[in-house]
Amino acid sequence: MTEELKMAEGPTCACEAAIIGLYACSGGSNVGQMANRAAVELTKQGRGKIMCTVGIGGNVSGIIKSAEGTDEIIAIDGCPLLCARKSLERAGFTVGKNIVITELGMKKGGSLDLEENDVKEMMTKVEAALSN
Ligand code: SF4
Repeated sequence: MTEELKMAEGPTCACEAAIIGLYACSGGSNVGQMANRAAVELTKQGRGKIMCTVGIGGNVSGIIKSAEGTDEIIAIDGCPLLCARKSLERAGFTVGKNIVITELGMKKGGSLDLEENDVKEMMTKVEAALSN
């Protein structure tokens, strides 16, 4: 799509539509931040595209449109409260896969500064969970 066509479509999120949408809760805890980091790393690997989860909860039209353009939606939550998944489902989307960081062994609580060793270990588990 040309830049002109993109502009003509009106205001949309810069993240745009992706084939696999990665929606992290990005919550205010170590596991929420790990969920966000997982979405970033998976995007860098080309396994999907990080999207704007909070815009789903806010019913922001451009963000909803981007979600409608995905072929698959993956929710990445920090903990069993499943905020990302519930936001998506409340908006009427089907979540194909739901990664929950605490279920992969990371305990909730502690520093928001993630240790790179922990990130590496968690990414191995996230990637394995996505392959199942
Ligand atoms: S799923 Fe857990 S970590 Fe993520 S935003 Fe909700 S309460 Fe916070």
